[in-house]
Amino acid sequence: MKYCGWSTLLKLLVLQCFTILCVVSKEFDFYYFVQQWPASYCDTKKSCCYPVTGKPQEDFGIHGLWPNNNDGSYPTECDSNNTFDYSKVVDLTSSLQENWPTLACPSAFGLKFWGHEWEKHGTCCETYLDQHSYFAYALQLKEKANTLQSLVAAGITPTDGKHYTLNEIKGAIKEATGFTPWIDCNKDVYKNHQLYQVYMCVDKTGLGFIECPVFPHGPSCGNAIAFPSFSATSVATI
Ligand code: 5GP
Ligand code: 5GP
Repeated sequence: MKYCGWSTLLKLLVLQCFTILCVVSKEFDFYYFVQQWPASYCDTKKSCCYPVTGKPQEDFGIHGLWPNNNDGSYPTECDSNNTFDYSKVVDLTSSLQENWPTLACPSAFGLKFWGHEWEKHGTCCETYLDQHSYFAYALQLKEKANTLQSLVAAGITPTDGKHYTLNEIKGAIKEATGFTPWIDCNKDVYKNHQLYQVYMCVDKTGLGFIECPVFPHGPSCGNAIAFPSFSATSVATI
């Protein structure tokens, strides 16, 4: 009897620790809101495939909204019981197609990309944003950030053959939004550095930009950063 009491107590303790660990592993401090420049995704060695709905507009597309911690670590795949359910975001379809297009091959509609983002990153902030809010808030953040217009206003236009410095790009976004972004560069087929992704930090509510508590690490952008045109691009393998 005495032994049974202790064993139950022990089981309860283990269960409680497990619950605490689960909750802790889901915690995070802020989000990275990450947008990608389609021409820079497409003009690499890997190339790209346009969505089945057609070539996206010449604008940044959303990559994802990623919970992150102040120490640089981040949780992923936090709830396998909360898989992506398209019926929960079906009302956002046209906006998702326009602003969150998938460029991976083979050509797809977008459900796989959106589902991946929800399951890998979104489930880690499900206590703040349910599936509908996760996508709706990301769409709102894109509108608020207005990144292409921030760059164009500073004379940074997507033009083949033109190059910009990291300070010019970061300065233009800081000037327009009030917040310093992180710029992720990749290389085109000729190994030129180019503007690939823009990271902005967002508070836990998902509503407002903040100064980044910590910046990601990434490869150097070099001294001359290309910003390739997408309207002129015709490299996709459909
Ligand atoms: P993450 O960077 O969020 O960890 O993973 C992105 C995943 O989504 C990869 O498996 C990638 O192949 C897939 N994916 C589908 N479409 C796109 C796209 O347009 N851009 C990026 N970056 N990844 C995409
Ligand atoms: P600093 O702290 O002097 O601004 O930058 C330190 C290093 O990080 C430098 O090599 C600089 O080029 C790099 N760096 C600064 N900001 C960014 C950025 O937004 N993206 C990338 N890829 N590198 C950056």
